[in-house]
Amino acid sequence: MNWRWIVEQQTEHTAVIHTVKRYIYSGRSKYQQIDIIETEDYGVCLILDGKVQSSTIDEFIYHEALVHPPMVTHPSPKSVLIVGGGEGATAREVLKHSCVERLVMVDLDEEVVKLSRTYIPQLSEGVFEDKRFNLVIGDGRAYLEKCRERFDVIIVDVTDPLREGPSYLLYTKQFYELVKRALNPEGVMVTQATSTFYSSKSYCVIYNTLKNTFPVARAYSAWVPSYNSLWGFVMASLKHDPLSLSEHDVAQRLRQRGVTGLKFYTPDYHQALFKMPLYVRKQLEEEKDIATDDNPTFMPA
Ligand code: SAM
Repeated sequence: MNWRWIVEQQTEHTAVIHTVKRYIYSGRSKYQQIDIIETEDYGVCLILDGKVQSSTIDEFIYHEALVHPPMVTHPSPKSVLIVGGGEGATAREVLKHSCVERLVMVDLDEEVVKLSRTYIPQLSEGVFEDKRFNLVIGDGRAYLEKCRERFDVIIVDVTDPLREGPSYLLYTKQFYELVKRALNPEGVMVTQATSTFYSSKSYCVIYNTLKNTFPVARAYSAWVPSYNSLWGFVMASLKHDPLSLSEHDVAQRLRQRGVTGLKFYTPDYHQALFKMPLYVRKQLEEEKDIATDDNPTFMPA
């Protein structure tokens, strides 16, 4: 590839173009197309199957929004599982919580992990050497089918559910039942849940599927510039409700765990993340479809 721009499809009719400053890597692993490109506006980007996963300029937004709300909602998470998370930024945020004693990250593609460590080490900031960190290369769903270990927090940070992609079966009721089984009694899970606009149907179906699997399910979102969208997340739990935490509770838990240096998530912003604009709230409330293995949800492009 040697074009001046890269084009990222949001739907089949809308795309975002990024001006390329430097091509760093381009290749295909057993599972997906992997490109690492330095862009003019977003710094170095990891791109999988044409979708920006992380950009050095603004990845902190996505990874802090994904990790800290569920980690803070659990009263004292000691064991954490990340499904996906290949570039290591999700692991970086988890290990900021001093209460964590064991972190397992299961990613399908060793190439993504290796290439991210080589070309974008600032995303993982050395977590791969942390003695609490354990890397497993394999399919996240197969791992959970065999796993007898129980976790306090499970973070599903896999690629978007694309028809030809490797992750769409990790957005179904059957998968969420496996997640539920792998949680301890006070367990909390979260998943990235695609764009609240460009793939609003998927976002609402993921939410409704989790709402029909867990006693507590809460949708939230954050604007991610390099995703060019209000990005959706869904947290679900067996007992704890993130909305029950006050600004004081969040501040106290972050302080007790020595979590510092955050650039996006703050105690007063915790509740705000769950405030959804009326049109999104209505879509979420009115969604009746559930994603199953026989009828998964897919991104529009
Ligand atoms: N932050 C990104 C986002 O939300 O768009 C995702 C982070 S990370 C790059 C996504 C990871 O999911 C990739 O490393 C990919 O290899 C992994 N992945 C995709 N399908 C998977 C599966 N079935 N099991 C485990 N990991 C998977």
